[in-house]
Amino acid sequence: MSAIDILISEVGPRDGLQSIDPIMPLAAKCAWIDAEVAAGVREIEVGSFVPATLLPQLADTAAVVAHARRHPGLTVAVLVPNARGAKAAIAAGAHKLTLPLSASETHSLKNLRRTHAQVLEEARAIAAMVEACPPASRPHFEGSVSTAFGCTIEGIVTQAKVVELAEALMAAGCDEVGLSDTTGYANPAQVRQLVTAVRGAIGNDKLTGLHLHNTRGLGLANVIAGLEAGITTFDSSLGGLGGCPFAPGASGNIVTEDLVFMLEAMGLDTGIDLEKLLPVRDILRAALPSEPLYGFTPDAGLPLGFRAAA
Ligand code: ZN
Repeated sequence: MSAIDILISEVGPRDGLQSIDPIMPLAAKCAWIDAEVAAGVREIEVGSFVPATLLPQLADTAAVVAHARRHPGLTVAVLVPNARGAKAAIAAGAHKLTLPLSASETHSLKNLRRTHAQVLEEARAIAAMVEACPPASRPHFEGSVSTAFGCTIEGIVTQAKVVELAEALMAAGCDEVGLSDTTGYANPAQVRQLVTAVRGAIGNDKLTGLHLHNTRGLGLANVIAGLEAGITTFDSSLGGLGGCPFAPGASGNIVTEDLVFMLEAMGLDTGIDLEKLLPVRDILRAALPSEPLYGFTPDAGLPLGFRAAA
């Protein structure tokens, strides 16, 4: 595969599907992944290794990983809430594990029932497991600071706290740290400042990805701020699947189609062919007829004379 400028990590099969009630059948998940890979998508977060009682929508994650691994060159990413989930993810053959650590300890206690110290303990256990894998099958281990731009329970999250947690995740053995705007609170000035501060603390090559939401319509503006601060990987979801529980009518994740359009129109190569990506929405529409899909580019169509970056 050729080199690209910006990596788009499709998180719909995890972030989108976990936010809705209907359960997408395994065959549809596989068809969705296959179609995105055919359109040029190179990284997909295909699920989460959480107990099926908590998220029945993602109960078949091991089977989805097994299917996605058939695509050469595709990075198969999964979310893991703890060491137990990481063990299952490694057994399934995931290429990338992401452990969320909420910058807000109240949020962490409410969602994962764990303190910061306890999540960092899980991070150390996961790092040891990853280290013990044979080099050829060793997954990439990312610690993701969630609620990094603000919390629905605690409100303001300080830059100092996020930097401290990013350093702690690196010390615990993560390969890399990501920042996540779980609550859709971020603005472009804040993105620029926080990315610069965290990169200054742990190294530019240790923070390359952002997980941004579009809750208040600032998703793509925040991407630009991230780009300007040196970020090269952005998470997004096809059709903004899942929407946003706090803001009816708004997508939750950034819409993949709009993100690809913006970057390609700016001359940044994503490796993704929009003409092939747009029809992938039909798979979601057929499998989840009750779920709204978002996105401006799919509604408006590509501008006359549009040319992809490469
Ligand atoms: Zn998210």
